[in-house]
Amino acid sequence: MVPQFALETYIFSFSETFPLCASAKAPLKSMKIHEYQGKQLFRKAGVPVLEGHVAKTADEAAAAFDKLGGSIAVVKAQIHAGGRGKGTIIDTPEQRGVVLVKSADEARAAANGLLGKTLVTIQTGEEGKVVNQVFVEAGCDIARELYLGIVVDREASRPVLMVSTEGGVEIEKVAEETPELIFKEHFDPAVGLDAFQVRKLCKKLGIEGAAAKAAFKFMKAICRFFVDYDCAMAEINPLVITGSGEMVALDAKITFDDNAMFRHKDLLELRDLSEEEPSEVRASDSGLSYVKLEGNIGCLVNGAGLAMSTMDIIKYHGGKPANFLDVGGGANAQQVTEAFRILLSDPNCKGVLVNIFGGIARCTTIASALIEASKTVGFNVPLVVRLEGTEVEEGRKMLAESDVDVINATDITDAAKKIVAAAAG
Ligand code: ADP
Ligand code: MG
Repeated sequence: MVPQFALETYIFSFSETFPLCASAKAPLKSMKIHEYQGKQLFRKAGVPVLEGHVAKTADEAAAAFDKLGGSIAVVKAQIHAGGRGKGTIIDTPEQRGVVLVKSADEARAAANGLLGKTLVTIQTGEEGKVVNQVFVEAGCDIARELYLGIVVDREASRPVLMVSTEGGVEIEKVAEETPELIFKEHFDPAVGLDAFQVRKLCKKLGIEGAAAKAAFKFMKAICRFFVDYDCAMAEINPLVITGSGEMVALDAKITFDDNAMFRHKDLLELRDLSEEEPSEVRASDSGLSYVKLEGNIGCLVNGAGLAMSTMDIIKYHGGKPANFLDVGGGANAQQVTEAFRILLSDPNCKGVLVNIFGGIARCTTIASALIEASKTVGFNVPLVVRLEGTEVEEGRKMLAESDVDVINATDITDAAKKIVAAAAG
């Protein structure tokens, strides 16, 4: 997974304690939703937002403008990436992803310029993302643009609320150039944000009077929202103070921690598969836990802990993992075959390290799955295998007698060194 939100990139570049560790930088698996969906949830949770309507056609966008009844609205492309305001449509560079409109006809024209087109922003990569819907939102009377983000601080084992006076600017940039302008407050998930913490932040942001009251309501509500929905990240950039001293979320980037999705079955409906990495969708369909990364060494491992340490040791020996993949404790042949398909379909993958500790899954199951996968998928890159645990001797024998071209490894260090060398050469 390539981080699509600035806050994600910022958080993943956090880890100075373990500069070598790939796992420390591995993203939490999380489900993204669109801005308009985030705002619908905000409204329910008492986080102030402006009125808006989603539109899938240009006519719907024009009708939405009329429904809002104001003289100004904003037509916003809905994609799972930020930077839309400055982003441009491929082949129509004057068309931005966020457009201010003053009539239903202008709303129609803006929607026509966006729907079905590909929007490129600094967070989408060059290939961009196709806009399938737009959000037509009431125009806001902006007095101040602030920044607000919440993530789980893994070192502090608590959520952390971050605010900044530098709204509208990417948080990475603020962190790099003016880190003193980011103010942080950790909070206890059971208690939420305390009143004194809001006062502290308001003072730093230079908020007083009616706006301070609005900030109190807003910050308490957004922190409660973060916990109640098991978010991995909530980012509001810009967080706006209006001319009349109200505080509203003008943008909403929300991701939910995948590990908690069983508690929020209703949120699954908000998933937009067209926005997700196809290989990750395939993996989750087969019950595999897979995250695509940017390195060149594919990893096939059972157990999340072993998968993390495998990534770390590859990194330690100078390599870069192409993915995180946990085939699970009870992996079967079909899952392992699918796992190989997914790994080998990544053009960056220059070698695969199979690191299996047979506990519940037997090494013989894995070995026969490997042989099966080699027949159906075909290995076109070096394959290093480290097997240990239940029925390991039989498993190794099966591999040795097969015609699969395997580089055997005796232990995890040996395996890491061998795959790093093989992938490089
Ligand atoms: P992105 O972060 O993807 O660029 P935003 O939702 O932050 O998208 O919108 C970009 C900019 O557009 C905001 O910083 C704000 O200045 C302006 N904007 C967004 N929504 C509205 C609105 N409802 N009214 C007025 N301006 C808006
Ligand atoms: Mg924004």
